[in-house]
Amino acid sequence: MKKIIAANWKMNLSVRQSLRLARSLAAAIKKEGLVRKADILVFPDFLSLPEIASLLGKVDVKLGAQDCAASGYGPHTGQTAATSLKVAGARYVICGHSERRALGEDDAVVRAKAIQAISAGLVPVICLGEPAGVREKGKQLSYVRAQLLKLLAGGLAGKFILAYEPIWAIGTGKSPNPTEVSSMHQMIYEEAERLSGRPPRVIYGGSVDASKAKSFLSQPHIDGLLIGGASLKVASFLAICRQA
Ligand code: PEP
Repeated sequence: MKKIIAANWKMNLSVRQSLRLARSLAAAIKKEGLVRKADILVFPDFLSLPEIASLLGKVDVKLGAQDCAASGYGPHTGQTAATSLKVAGARYVICGHSERRALGEDDAVVRAKAIQAISAGLVPVICLGEPAGVREKGKQLSYVRAQLLKLLAGGLAGKFILAYEPIWAIGTGKSPNPTEVSSMHQMIYEEAERLSGRPPRVIYGGSVDASKAKSFLSQPHIDGLLIGGASLKVASFLAICRQA
């Protein structure tokens, strides 16, 4: 199965910059035939979604949104329904990124978002991972297992991806040892399959750049990468895709 290489552009770019990056990526990905090697996913901001959907759709790069509402249409000021994201061209949506959890989202909200995503026909990319304090005590396995219980107990009625993203590794330049990540992913995979009755794909995110990508991608149980900072430049993102 192809590895997943996902680009989370966060709120780093204006719409104009997003379109420029998407155009350059589309041209380079087509020229090198990179979608034959990897499932390439791009998560731009909401406003850029429809235009980028048509740009990247032509080269078979899949589009996702960075968040969705935890409920369907209704009086929820400032929220965006998963169904609207689907109509705008998204096929995936990130649920529970740590930067959203830092604003107050807990596992129950993240689960509700994943349910909305699935019922709208999107594949949620559900983020989980421990903060620095938990890692310092060596309790990351039990922490992530407890998160999985809250996110997946009772199952999810559709396909989903899990993104293991230790919070202390995001945007810091620090990342855990790839062999440790591989054991974490094995636990996540087994536990998620037990809880949901379906085998998920499990990707890793946290300060991966081209110099580290291969060390993660060559490990068992690591189905792909979620890339933040290194996805903002064509050259660094392509250098990662080429290693898939
Ligand atoms: C992320 O925010 O999902 C992420 C992985 O960021 P970075 O690659 O910059 O650590």
